[in-house]
Amino acid sequence: MDADERDRRAEQARSIRDDLAGRGVVGLATTWVDNSGITRVKAVPLARLESAARWGIGASPVFDAFLADDSIVPGRFAGGPVGDLRLHPDLSRATVLAAQPGWAWAPAVRYRQDGTIHPQDARSAAQRAVDDLKSAGFTARMAFEIEWALGLAAEGGGFVPAATGPAYGYTRLVEQSDYLRELLIALDHQGVGVDQIHPEYGAGQFELSVAAEDPVGAADTFALVRETVRAHTVRLGMQASFSPKVEAVGVGNGGHLHLSLQRDGAPIFGGGAGPAGLSEQAEQFTAGILDRLPALLAIGAPSVASYLRLIPGHWAGAFQAWGVENRETALRLVPGSPGKRDAANLEVKVFDQSANPYLAVAAVILAGLAGIRAGAKLPAPVDVDPASLSEDDRAARGIRPLPTSLADTTDAFESDEELARGLGLELAATIVDTRRAEVARFADSSAEEIVAASRWKY
Ligand code: GLU
Ligand code: MG
Repeated sequence: MDADERDRRAEQARSIRDDLAGRGVVGLATTWVDNSGITRVKAVPLARLESAARWGIGASPVFDAFLADDSIVPGRFAGGPVGDLRLHPDLSRATVLAAQPGWAWAPAVRYRQDGTIHPQDARSAAQRAVDDLKSAGFTARMAFEIEWALGLAAEGGGFVPAATGPAYGYTRLVEQSDYLRELLIALDHQGVGVDQIHPEYGAGQFELSVAAEDPVGAADTFALVRETVRAHTVRLGMQASFSPKVEAVGVGNGGHLHLSLQRDGAPIFGGGAGPAGLSEQAEQFTAGILDRLPALLAIGAPSVASYLRLIPGHWAGAFQAWGVENRETALRLVPGSPGKRDAANLEVKVFDQSANPYLAVAAVILAGLAGIRAGAKLPAPVDVDPASLSEDDRAARGIRPLPTSLADTTDAFESDEELARGLGLELAATIVDTRRAEVARFADSSAEEIVAASRWKY
């Protein structure tokens, strides 16, 4: 970041400051997501906005080595007490927060004090992957789906559903009619394009999907929307769990990632000559993701609780397979309606919200690009529940169960040199260090204990 760039950022801060003040803003919260999926924050009063934009806000690099319970891992490239970074808010995403009166938000990029980008900054890793994609001739559009279990304030950290109507039942929308209406208003005021909101399958569970945008923007929007849901929920005296598993038994919360690719602005996931209308390169991109799923899970399902969710029969996609509109395969192709081919997209169902969304979009792009480079081919789509097939039939179709533990997916990630190179060797090493420490943290825990420790963390 040179002097001209600092001037440009200071000017950007001056240009929005009066508008923010006029809308009652007194503080700007700037966030990044750590390797354990926790959104961390520093905030400045509005009077310090220009300085924050020009010089950044100090933050220790130790957060790279934080676990979800705030313990710190002595990692190979993170975890020590020495050093400082500068958080630079991306003010092009500055948003007045409707559910937190007086506050605005912007995502941060973490720089070193010499003005270069911190090599372990996840948002920048996502941006580098997007740049690689562009060099290969593609752009991508993505969106995360958010599921959450809405609970009454309960003693002792337990979960008491705040709506008792049936799954997808209108009763549940009636029970939380004001809550959902006000949430829609808040998101609208924040410029978030909501596609859908509805009661989900789990007890007290709801889901919200948003419009697709560029991958870094989609990760920003995920962070913004989740914190908006949380803030709105807390204001009304309730609590929201975004954890992969809210109760030891039953379905969990997913954080499905929808994606599509464009070449020269034209969509390539629909209307092609390949299987299910995929173009050749969309097939290769999809195959690249499918092949690497065991390693990708260390990014997209990075908590010990993730593996309590990722089980057959829970619509989480526990098999390494793809299918058209199949909710039990890890990858679900959504073909879009005839005449609406640009709606075709791929849903990565296995991911959940303990993931850092920036790392998730980065890793998926890197895997897809590797697939394009290798000319990877997809097996036949799976049109049944893989769990209904015999083991022999699954093997004959090339369907494997995905790894069932964070220890196994971490091993797969560690041996994946392509992902490590793409994310950056230091960042990849810190991801491995934090995952192994999460595994150790829960080595002697029961499912109930894992769920209880994770329920209100994400
Ligand atoms: N709650 C499910 C999950 O854990 C997803 C349900 C759905 O298909 O939307 O991913
Ligand atoms: Mg859902």
